Amino acid sequence: MKCHEFQTAIGADPSSTHPDVLAHLESCSACAAYRRQMQEMDRLIYKALVVRVDEAALARATRERPAAHKPSVGRWQIAASLVASVLIAASVWVASTRESLAEQLVLHTERESFMMVRTDDRVDRQVLDDILARSGVSLRADAADVSHAAICLFRGKAVPHFIVQTNEGPVTVMVLADEKPASKKKRFAEEGYEGMIVPAPQGVLAVLGKDVSVEEATEKVLHALIW
Ligand SMILES: [Zn+2]
Ligand SMILES: [Zn+2]
Repeated sequence: MKCHEFQTAIGADPSSTHPDVLAHLESCSACAAYRRQMQEMDRLIYKALVVRVDEAALARATRERPAAHKPSVGRWQIAASLVASVLIAASVWVASTRESLAEQLVLHTERESFMMVRTDDRVDRQVLDDILARSGVSLRADAADVSHAAICLFRGKAVPHFIVQTNEGPVTVMVLADEKPASKKKRFAEEGYEGMIVPAPQGVLAVLGKDVSVEEATEKVLHALIW
């Protein structure tokens, strides 16, 4: 198993105990670190969900509060859960305002530029579906040639990141369902990359490449994805 295959498998299922995965883990410290990061992210997402449940309970408690005094311990518990959710919101906000979205996309793509190569490799359909399902999207069969796919940590969120092979070369695609929706297309050029950030049914879609018709590639990917 190669590193990119390992990361694709762990992206789809961070708790995978497939023999090939475990064997690669023994021999590759970079991938072992990647798996720890993915598992930690899964725990964080779980914690964030738990806090959201607490908020729902708080809303109910507020509605149902009778005029009479309540024991103060209940209020402390509510305060504690509010502090927790404010802390999570604050850390996400800090992470997302440090640099512009375009800058962060270029940085992320550059860091994983080993995937941005022309290749005839194609990601297994089932693995790709599992990765995309995390953002509630799917890809029309045979609508795009995907050579690599992973779940990446980007601006505090776990997002699908995949590479589509076009006639002119590879482009990187990120499905950013949690980003603030954009009202119109934005084109950018930075560090040799050309990119598009376009409105999507949920959040935005980002496409980047070097020396490719990025607008054409974006249209193609938009039509291939089903939200
Ligand atoms: Zn490895
Ligand atoms: Zn990535």
